[in-house]
Amino acid sequence: MTLRVAMLSVHACPMARLGGRDSGGANVYVRELTRDLAARGIEVDVFTRWREPEDPRIQQIAPNARVIHIESGPISYLPKMEVYDRLPEFTERLQDYVRAEGLHYDLIHAHYWLSAEVARALALEWRVPRIQMFHTLGLVKREVMDEDVDGESDIRIEIERRAIRESAAVTASSEIEAGELRSLYGANMGRVTIIPCGVDPELFRPMRLADARELLGRDQCERLILFVGRIEQIKGIDVLLRALGRLFARRADLKSEVCLVVVGGALDPSDDAPETEKILELRRLVHEHRMEDNVSFVGSRDQRDLALYYAAADICAVPSLTESFGLVALESMACGTPVIGTRVGGLQTVIEDGRSGLLVPAGDVDALADAIERVLSDHRLRMHLAHGAREAAEGFTWRRVGDRVSDLYKRVLAKNPAQV
Ligand code: UDP
Repeated sequence: MTLRVAMLSVHACPMARLGGRDSGGANVYVRELTRDLAARGIEVDVFTRWREPEDPRIQQIAPNARVIHIESGPISYLPKMEVYDRLPEFTERLQDYVRAEGLHYDLIHAHYWLSAEVARALALEWRVPRIQMFHTLGLVKREVMDEDVDGESDIRIEIERRAIRESAAVTASSEIEAGELRSLYGANMGRVTIIPCGVDPELFRPMRLADARELLGRDQCERLILFVGRIEQIKGIDVLLRALGRLFARRADLKSEVCLVVVGGALDPSDDAPETEKILELRRLVHEHRMEDNVSFVGSRDQRDLALYYAAADICAVPSLTESFGLVALESMACGTPVIGTRVGGLQTVIEDGRSGLLVPAGDVDALADAIERVLSDHRLRMHLAHGAREAAEGFTWRRVGDRVSDLYKRVLAKNPAQV
């Protein structure tokens, strides 16, 4: 019998443009997992908030897989807490749609805390089990952020606690995250399954550095450091800029050779105000360190272009303050570009220090500057890390994620048979 899954990803549409505010790893995860499950014959409907006016209400993304946009609030970007306020409306509209179409699901798979309450209501009504994946945890974020930028902490953490208590299963993308679920939230480890994320090896694969630079029009860069990600404090871009400033202060020779390319974020001021503010703040930092000729912000890029950026770089820097997994690190490694990352969350499980990249303490400007200098000045080390990175990335595929998730579905359904 065909298995039917309602995949809930309220804030992260799997087809969204990536790298902008609130769209990154979770969107990629839901997209790739859905495609893989559908290819196995599992029917998947992804329910997400309708945010882009040009998106169709229903989009078939593969045989067996659809994205269904649910209207709740204006069809535009909304800050997370406004999305939260509209969750009852989202749930009701989703139920109306499912009822009108006569649809039935065997299981609910919810992503991020914003989907957890919707999953809870639907699981009670449909009498089916639910699986929860958080992507990031409120309590972990609270440990590293000095302010609650989204004003979401307390409510979010309460919702996370309840989802951990009540879901049939919770998935974590690394043993570090599983440990956080246990120690910070008291999760019952019998219900936690660790499933690392994946990378598309067709898309992210090595190519000649010189060719990639030429295709990007960056052949004037002698040494290229890359940052890819959402432009938010949690990603540590300011630490990277300071590290570069410190490095140039002691190695003037590198100042004339090194460029930093920052991919991610919206550059159009009318597009997204909070993010634009962050970019302005970063530009001020660039100015303070007189690095205007070294640093460029190129805005978000689709993943096809990203593959070129990774291949063109000598180093990809992932200076995050916290990271539940770190897809960017894995994508870079798959392209054979070593990563200098921080020793936080899942990054520690993706990057093996000294073999596939280097790990430095989060927020440590000197350690990051030293690590960059080491890799840039030691060609053999760079080659060694590039080789190790490629090898390590081979172990992570979306196919493997699909294997583990579909096994989990079977186990959960065997334990929680349909109650209809
Ligand atoms: N990404 C992208 N274009 C951009 C910036 C990011 O496609 O301009 C993608 C990137 O390829 C990766 C994801 O967004 O797959 C970011 O995931 P990651 O786990 O690194 O960070 P998160 O967004 O989950 O914090």
